[in-house]
Amino acid sequence: MAIHGTLDPYASGDMRRDLPKYTMPNTGMESDTAFNLVKDALLLDGVARQNLATFCQTWSDDKVHKIMDLCLDKNMIDKDEYPATAELEKRCVHMIADLWNSPDAKNTAGCSTTGSSEAAMLGGLAMKFRWRNKRKAENKPYDKPNIVTGPIQVCWEKFARYFDVELREVPLEHDRLGLDENIMLDYIDENTIGVVPTFGVTFTCHYEPVAAICAALDKLQEEKGWDIPVHVDAASGGFIAPFVEPDIVWDFRLPRVMSINTSGHKFGLAPLGVGWVIWRNLEDLPEDLIFWVNYLGGNMPTFALNFSRPGGQIVAQYYLLTHLGREGYKAIMSNLYDNAQHIGKEMVKMGDFELFFDGDSKKGIPAISWTLSNPKAAYSLYDLSDRLRMRGWQVAAYSMLPNIEEIVVMRLVLRHGFSRELADLFVEDVQRALDYFEKHPVSVVQTSDDANNNFDHSGRTK
Ligand SMILES: *Cc1c(COP(=O)(O)O)cnc(C)c1O
Repeated sequence: MAIHGTLDPYASGDMRRDLPKYTMPNTGMESDTAFNLVKDALLLDGVARQNLATFCQTWSDDKVHKIMDLCLDKNMIDKDEYPATAELEKRCVHMIADLWNSPDAKNTAGCSTTGSSEAAMLGGLAMKFRWRNKRKAENKPYDKPNIVTGPIQVCWEKFARYFDVELREVPLEHDRLGLDENIMLDYIDENTIGVVPTFGVTFTCHYEPVAAICAALDKLQEEKGWDIPVHVDAASGGFIAPFVEPDIVWDFRLPRVMSINTSGHKFGLAPLGVGWVIWRNLEDLPEDLIFWVNYLGGNMPTFALNFSRPGGQIVAQYYLLTHLGREGYKAIMSNLYDNAQHIGKEMVKMGDFELFFDGDSKKGIPAISWTLSNPKAAYSLYDLSDRLRMRGWQVAAYSMLPNIEEIVVMRLVLRHGFSRELADLFVEDVQRALDYFEKHPVSVVQTSDDANNNFDHSGRTK
């Protein structure tokens, strides 16, 4: 070790060492040195806030950082040792249930999860158990459950495969970019455990018509006697529409909506690692899935796939709900819609693009997407994505789902921390890229397996 190793980490001899890749070193290094080396290794990750492909939070105020630090040692599962953290989780459940108009928000069941994926698994399992219990009671076979969805996020494919449920994902058409109440009926039978509309579809950014879907299922029940519940995947929309478009009826105001999931770490504005799943009524969560925690004297069910889990994100969620209030969330989301629409207008002005999703808060999430409509363009959206990467922007360019896969879109998801200034910087960089392509034409072919396609079918960075 160099003499000055303790003064300046870059004076340390360890700075000439290779960082371990396959084997743990016998001898370690100073924490300062190791810290700087690890921090440097992260440099290539890029700037998270310039990642306009993700739906997840990349901006937090200082208080959130402090809370995360305060809560480093809090294990969410240990409700006995950390009853205060458990209490804040419980408050979040009831506040979110209330936000979604649960008829009995003070008493209903729900819990935090690591994200919407775990929440979706739990919602899916509850529907499967409920269906199975009913079929058993009626002495009917219960070995072929299926679930009906529109274009889903990958977590539902996981749910179906992991828990042995047939996935009936209704394919899209050019004139129908999501699940609707008519096509859905062709896919339903007595073995359907539930229908899952997505409130904020990953690929299209749209809200699927939950109310119409519920009405069609009400009618189906009258005709055939099948009582098929709805679980809404509101990973994004669950923390947007209640503030910005409270008149869209998609939640527990619809009696057929049995459960809803959302990602606290998306538009819930909490740091990564928290989701929520809430049931309409306590009875909607099958008893045999619940492990009751009775030493708190409350009725908080333990119902999760994980055991130990960090508590900081949940405490931060509580802080954010309390600090921002409904007005705060509304103001943040409204700014995002406004800036999304602004970018959309600027993109259209450039002449090469046509909007695919226009950032209308009545239709979907604060995002904007476009296709390349100029047939003479000497570049593809993948090329544009690649070019923007040089300026630090990460923008999803991806082909749509089967049946309409020839549609290639570029999509921006606007999130907390995005401003008009950033929007204009982005637009300038797009113009700069177009000027470059004008002088240096690259390619004219867009295919889904284009080498520059860094995004998978979830529309997120791989
Ligand atoms: C992001 C997303 C998910 C998965 O959520 P995570 O919180 O990342 O686990 C599920 N469904 C939809 C619609 C999503 O947008």
